[in-house]
Amino acid sequence: MDSRFRSIKGMNDILPSDSFLWINLEKLLREHFFMAGFREIRTPVLEYLELFVRGIGEGTDIVDKEMYSFRDKDGEMITLRPEGTASVVRAVTEHNLLKQEGIHRLFYLGPMFRYERPQKGRLRQFHQFGAEIFGIADGSIDGELIYLGTSLLLKTGVKESDFVVKINSLGCQSCRKNYRESLVGFLNQSKESLCDDCKRRTVTNPLRVLDCKNEVCKSITEKSPKTLDFLCTECSAHFGEVQSSLKCFGVKSEVDHRLVRGLDYYSRTTFEIQIINNLLGSQNTVIAGGRYDSLFRDFTGGDYPAIGFAGGIERLLEVAGKDILAAKDEFRISFISSVGLFEETDLRNIGKLREAGIETEVDLSKRSFKAKFKRADRIKSSFAVIKGDDEKNGGYYTLKDLRLSMNSEEKQFRINADELVNEILKRRKV
Ligand SMILES: [Zn+2]
Ligand SMILES: [Zn+2]
Repeated sequence: MDSRFRSIKGMNDILPSDSFLWINLEKLLREHFFMAGFREIRTPVLEYLELFVRGIGEGTDIVDKEMYSFRDKDGEMITLRPEGTASVVRAVTEHNLLKQEGIHRLFYLGPMFRYERPQKGRLRQFHQFGAEIFGIADGSIDGELIYLGTSLLLKTGVKESDFVVKINSLGCQSCRKNYRESLVGFLNQSKESLCDDCKRRTVTNPLRVLDCKNEVCKSITEKSPKTLDFLCTECSAHFGEVQSSLKCFGVKSEVDHRLVRGLDYYSRTTFEIQIINNLLGSQNTVIAGGRYDSLFRDFTGGDYPAIGFAGGIERLLEVAGKDILAAKDEFRISFISSVGLFEETDLRNIGKLREAGIETEVDLSKRSFKAKFKRADRIKSSFAVIKGDDEKNGGYYTLKDLRLSMNSEEKQFRINADELVNEILKRRKV
């Protein structure tokens, strides 16, 4: 096919055979968040480039290499959002929400974009859900948010033994300054062995070296200084609160000193929920997040308590129980006519069926009865409601129970036009 008529590399269509899984997962996500007191926020897919450069930070892979940016007709640099948090913070401050109410529990769902080499588990248009809590600095909130993530996984059918929660604390700006110096000193000792990216990162964003996937870099950083050894008294106490809160919510966690997140705005708590049943290979993180009190500084001039996480919908779909997301109770009707236009009774019956939650497909076309039955079979209709000339003249329908075998006596029968809906509702339960 002409390449102009293919989808852009790394951007997938979601076809009807799969879209119901997405719909059911999105429904489950929304319910999960709503029940925990979160409200949905929807921000535009496009933002000014500057938002992400300042919000995410230069020296990060996202800003340096992965953003989908272009100049619009007014000459403004525009970016397709690579993640959700910066936009949420922008929206909350732009609309003065914090002045109206100090505490917000927000969630979002939607497509994100990163211009990177498409490979397994990495798309240029991918989908994320995320949750943010603004206004509470207490470490117990960090535990609550992580629990929101683990309880979500359990709800989608992931077993407790199939995931692990990893946590760490980066400390505040002053803890981090000392840590950064010590880390750079350590990295410089083995600078020659680091990969090219990490040689660059040692200068631009040394913390990022800790999550390099290169085996040599990994073995070097195994012995690197740990952020937890550099925490001030307050940060250390905060991390203690996070750990007791997790215990209180019944969430098992382990400390991972290399969990530093590459984004500038994180402070104190960072966490990841990783799948360990091998379904996702090396891209096994389904939910990742942390505290980012200092992100607000660029927007409001001061810090504001904030913690959040984001999760990948594609990855969650891979690990979620397919039975949980499957279409439930498949029941539909094919309303088949050979007499062309409907009469008022027919239209009323179709309306009533649909109102009763029964999917009803109508075929008024001049195609043959045979073709229409074939279609009813293919879409797995439970009943065909047939209206031919005889039915029209006699004021009844012929009802065919397509779930029964050909020679069943109950398979086909007449029903009065005004008894149709009740009859189908009754038979639905059989
Ligand atoms: Zn500190
Ligand atoms: Zn490296």
